[in-house]
Amino acid sequence: MSLPAQYRFLEETGRLDNFRRAAGATGLPFQGRVYNDSDVYKWLEAAAWTLATDDDPALEQMAETVVEAIAAAQQPDGYLNTYFMFEQAAKRWTNLRDLHELYCAGHLIQAAIADRRATGRGRLFQVACHLADHICATFGPLEQGKRPATPGHEEIEMALVELARETGETRYQAQASFFLDQRGQGLIGGQAYHQDHRPFRSLERLDGHAVRHMYLNCGAADLYTETGEPALLATLERLWVQMTQRQMYVSGGLGSRHVGEAFGQDYELPNARAYAETCAAIGSVLWNWRMLALAGEAQYADLLELALYNAFLAGVSLDGTAYFYENPLADDGRHRRQAWFDCACCPTNAIRLLASLPGYVYSTSEEGIWVHLYAQGAARIQLADGRIVHLRQHTRHPWEGQVEIEVEGQGEFSLFLRLPGWCEAGASLEVNSQPLDAALQPGSYVAVHRTWRPGDSLRLNLPMPVRQMQAHPYALENTARVALMRGPLLYCVEGVDHPQLDLRDLTLAPTTAFTPTFRGDLLGGVVVLQATASQIDLPADWHRRLYRTVSGAGEQPVRQPVEITAIPYYAWANREPGPLQVWLQRTG
Ligand SMILES: [Zn+2]
Repeated sequence: MSLPAQYRFLEETGRLDNFRRAAGATGLPFQGRVYNDSDVYKWLEAAAWTLATDDDPALEQMAETVVEAIAAAQQPDGYLNTYFMFEQAAKRWTNLRDLHELYCAGHLIQAAIADRRATGRGRLFQVACHLADHICATFGPLEQGKRPATPGHEEIEMALVELARETGETRYQAQASFFLDQRGQGLIGGQAYHQDHRPFRSLERLDGHAVRHMYLNCGAADLYTETGEPALLATLERLWVQMTQRQMYVSGGLGSRHVGEAFGQDYELPNARAYAETCAAIGSVLWNWRMLALAGEAQYADLLELALYNAFLAGVSLDGTAYFYENPLADDGRHRRQAWFDCACCPTNAIRLLASLPGYVYSTSEEGIWVHLYAQGAARIQLADGRIVHLRQHTRHPWEGQVEIEVEGQGEFSLFLRLPGWCEAGASLEVNSQPLDAALQPGSYVAVHRTWRPGDSLRLNLPMPVRQMQAHPYALENTARVALMRGPLLYCVEGVDHPQLDLRDLTLAPTTAFTPTFRGDLLGGVVVLQATASQIDLPADWHRRLYRTVSGAGEQPVRQPVEITAIPYYAWANREPGPLQVWLQRTG
């Protein structure tokens, strides 16, 4: 549903016509923003990942139309960007800071790799290689007669590393290294907004535009995976610790400030004014996936899952056709999803991630198969030595913590099962109905090593009691407040479920008992959390003033019991508009 709807927007907004114009097929003027080509490429990447598994002739036709338009627009020297044509052609590569040429090129390369892997066709891939060769010929050290440069919006770095993997051509990887190393030299103005204020390897914290920083980290992680350079890994680990301990929302959202779509200071995490762009959450998924692949540590899968189910998923409506750009954690009911945006980075990025999701559930190593995410489904997985294993997950996760995995494979290998960090109550695991004799530490992978036989199955139980979360005391907006989580899901309360209640008067006690209940009729089917909480009767004195002197004795507010229903945060703003609160007052 999302892909055809977005295709119509690509047509209606002139994004595809821009390619036809560049090819000389129409006399229309350029339409939209300078970086609009990237939306076409992201849509195409999403279509490719979808066509890898789904037989959809209509979608295939749309994708072919797009590939034709892109290929026809490429210039003889390999250059391809529809804005810099005709009267703008002299401006090619003149403003790498602001005009997004390398950013668009990166998305074309990624789309082409997806198209080649999914469909086996090579047309778009040739286009991408031709453009990449043009980039390699243009940018490089002065002594080679090229231009030193780095892009204002990162993205080309990870695309070039992937292209090197796809082609075996290490020069593409060297080009990615070059762009990374040129950053922080002041070539594009030296601003933190573009992560140009310091060389990457000396960064201590996340500054500037959040999406750009995530993409930069992805590129650096990809380079580390290929080169093993210790300084890159040390920087990535340092930034990850800093981000998760001081600069991240409880939803996994990133970027506190609307100004500059940027990270804030440590513990600067406003709720209603959160920026937390959907693309930044996607960037976090992409980065954590890379960290997981290179380190095999469950903390990265934990964060990938947190960002996926909460900060990212809230950005998409339940029917998959409307999107948030910003994802606040409190609202008065005015913030609503839209089908499209003038700057459409989030919708096209969202479908790109959704289409590639099957790739995030499992991975392999020399030892065997890693299970990162739990979800109903089946997979055919090739081990490093070529053997094929079929895995089938039977589960109602994330609503329930029981997961049964059927393993159809023969011979010896390990199955690494993720024990999520949120599973503080302790996991249990049975292999063919026998409890596994191993320590099951939350926030790690447990290895089940055996000689597998047909009919083998595992039963994993991940208890998911409702957890009341508190924030670091320096995150001042959340002082004396709690947020609710169950399993990987963050919860919230919405006005529509509490028409008589000002959500700001709602308070929870540490002893408040929640009843999780599956409601198939609500929000596409969700587990809601129900509880008897209390409502503070605001003393009448406060109706007349904003401040007052603290009185020595203090004043005990009057509380009334009130029934509340919390829903998963990702599902908010799908019913009548009304207030939202993630962080609720707590007593005691
Ligand atoms: Zn975005």
